Amino acid sequence: MVGKEQTYLNFIGGEWREGGTGKWELNRNPAKPTQIIGKATCSTHEDVSLAVLAAQKAQREWAARSRPARGAFLEKVSKLVREKLDTFAMTMTIEEGKNLNESKGEVLKSINVLEFMASESRRPIGEVIPSEMPNTMIYTTRAPLGVVGLITPWNFPLCIPGWKISAALIEGNTIIFKPASLTPACALLLVQAFHEAGLPPGVLNMVYGSGSTVGNAIVDNPAIKAISFTGSNEVGAELYAQAAKRLAHTQLEMGGKNPIIILADADLDQAAEATVTGAFGSTGQRCTATSRVIIDKKVHGEFMKKLLEKSRNIKVGDGLENPSAMGPIVDEKQMISVLKAIDTAKKEGAKLLCGGGRVGSDSPDSGYFIAPTIFDDVKPSMKIAQEEAFGPVLSIIQVSDFDEAIEVANSVKYGLSSSVYTRDIQRIMNYADRIETGILHINSPTVGGEANAPFGGMKATGLGGREMGSTGPEFFREIKTVYVDYNATVRKGNLY
Ligand code: NAP
Repeated sequence: MVGKEQTYLNFIGGEWREGGTGKWELNRNPAKPTQIIGKATCSTHEDVSLAVLAAQKAQREWAARSRPARGAFLEKVSKLVREKLDTFAMTMTIEEGKNLNESKGEVLKSINVLEFMASESRRPIGEVIPSEMPNTMIYTTRAPLGVVGLITPWNFPLCIPGWKISAALIEGNTIIFKPASLTPACALLLVQAFHEAGLPPGVLNMVYGSGSTVGNAIVDNPAIKAISFTGSNEVGAELYAQAAKRLAHTQLEMGGKNPIIILADADLDQAAEATVTGAFGSTGQRCTATSRVIIDKKVHGEFMKKLLEKSRNIKVGDGLENPSAMGPIVDEKQMISVLKAIDTAKKEGAKLLCGGGRVGSDSPDSGYFIAPTIFDDVKPSMKIAQEEAFGPVLSIIQVSDFDEAIEVANSVKYGLSSSVYTRDIQRIMNYADRIETGILHINSPTVGGEANAPFGGMKATGLGGREMGSTGPEFFREIKTVYVDYNATVRKGNLY
């Protein structure tokens, strides 16, 4: 894999094809930016139109298969991914930067997602409802939406495509998949697995290219009935407005500013460990990463000693050579954006306790590493407490009591994940009632999400319904309500 430059082609109607631009996007290793891993074809609007035609052609036959038969493909794919676990994990580390242990974790979770969705295909698909009328049965059933567009980010390059594709497929949709430009190799491995599993041509199509060209073409194409997007709020908001013009179904999962609340009675060793895991795991590039510590000022001093000791011990480096090191930022542009957020925090008066800049030199072959960074004395109104930095940057905010902690936690536009550390059951239950996040953790880190549980955010983080779990497929279907008068009674009078 390393040293052998790969070529990534579109997958349209069951065939590997070059995009219409004749241009290629280089795929670099963020730990060693001069190392080119491969090149992805750059596509045009016409390539998206071709993919849509293939998906339209395949859709009726795909939807006509039984639901368990569609699920069986997911089971085959999960086995193929498991067989190639090491290849998937190494590819992910080399192109995205997360360390090998984290990459293996993502591959295993993707397998869980595929297995869960395969089993979901055997569960009930509707309900029987008592009718007000005699001899009448009402039941619900489902219909696919048709051709759907999936647009995904680079930070979970296997798992997020995996959960969107599997949910869309079991509902009988066919797919146009646009992966993030920074992670074409993981997308290729996943699509290859579906191909190898024997998925019929046209059911899953992948088109490489920039968000502005390929992404836009998907959002604008009237034959694409629904778009499921995960990414930044900036892009998501534009996409939503554009898709609304043609009344396309839209699902958006976007940024987070996830708090860990640490109350005075918390186990501070556990809380410090959870904070380090949440803030610096995957280099802080998880949507559920901990970016704010909201701590009772009575235990601030003791907690900070523990937190700083653990944070200063983190090894930063190439996650292929050291499978537990904190890896690089995904690319130069994202690194500059994180450094800018750090700079702004300094200017706003936040107190830098740890990190605060790049690790290594500025030379072109130096990886995009940033040291674990902690700011103390952060005020809730500061930009660093409000905006997603999407890197290893943590803000510490002190509060006087539980009520203030909840108020500060909820004072951001985002609502993805949160956590509380306390032994007080009354506070735990009140936290669960009052916190404005879609995922809540009690005495565990803000990160993570299981394949069998709903995943997604409130407020500006998400709309269009939760992903994963039994709720995952809901976005990809219509409900039909069927009235059956089995005696064909002649009805008179008003029927409401
Ligand atoms: P991004 O820049 O918004 O890109 C996401 C996807 O949208 C990429 O495939 C991108 O293509 C595409 N895109 C860009 N411009 C587009 C346009 N005008 N029309 C249609 N598509 C367009 O986000 P990112 O940097 O990849 O991902 C990081 C963000 O994702 C963070 O904010 C993170 O919190 C969020 N995230 C959220 C969740 C969640 O479940 N809530 C999970 C993971 C990540 P290109 O790659 O070609 O630019």
